[in-house]
Amino acid sequence: MVAGNWKMNLGLADAVRLASDVARETADDARAVTVAVCPPTIWLEAVAERVRTSGVALGAQDVHPEASGAFTGEVAPPMLREVGARYVIVGHSERRQLFGESSAFVAEKARAVLAAGMAPILCVGETLDEREGGDAEAVVLGQLAESLDGVALDDPAGLVVAYEPVWAIGTGRTATPDQAQTMHAAVRAALAERFGGGEKIEILYGGSVKPGNAAELFAQPDLDGALVGGASLDADAFAAIVAAARASL
Ligand code: PEP
Repeated sequence: MVAGNWKMNLGLADAVRLASDVARETADDARAVTVAVCPPTIWLEAVAERVRTSGVALGAQDVHPEASGAFTGEVAPPMLREVGARYVIVGHSERRQLFGESSAFVAEKARAVLAAGMAPILCVGETLDEREGGDAEAVVLGQLAESLDGVALDDPAGLVVAYEPVWAIGTGRTATPDQAQTMHAAVRAALAERFGGGEKIEILYGGSVKPGNAAELFAQPDLDGALVGGASLDADAFAAIVAAARASL
């Protein structure tokens, strides 16, 4: 799977154009690789319209766990489902760091996304200080366990996990294939223990993935794809990453 997180970028015309370009440029590969785009919430409907007949799936960048109510400014899981979203990113490091979201709150979101019939893309990752202090694996596995509190899975395909080292997001600094593989293997083992059969859950890597480094990352046995930020705003670059994912199958 390759998912593009457009973050808080693009006006309406550019968002619709990018959706069309991604749909066209990934058309062949999207038969073999799950391709998703996660536009800003306000453009979900317009982008849904563009990708509806293509192989590109729609994702949202965030959600509130309640189904409705007095939560000014928030968007509920059933609303995202109704607009056509199949995936919802939860626990992105920007939400955790800039908006103070705890893993307990992320777990509420993950449960609500599943209950609404969509798949959470659950993000976990350590900071540079945590890595340099030798705590990366403990931090990531701790976040994973807390962010999955109370989550039950009927189908392992209903959950996607993204390992995103915070120090690699938007910095141009990527985890080495070895660093990524080591963490993915630990995450996979934890998921298998937590869910039984959980080894089938897709684990994406995120953090400055580009066409130039995608192939070596995808060559790692426990990397099932990528969550792409900056490079997902360029249809050619995003399509090249999708093509690298397909070539690694
Ligand atoms: C992200 O924000 O999820 C991300 C991986 O960003 P970038 O690819 O720009 O590092």
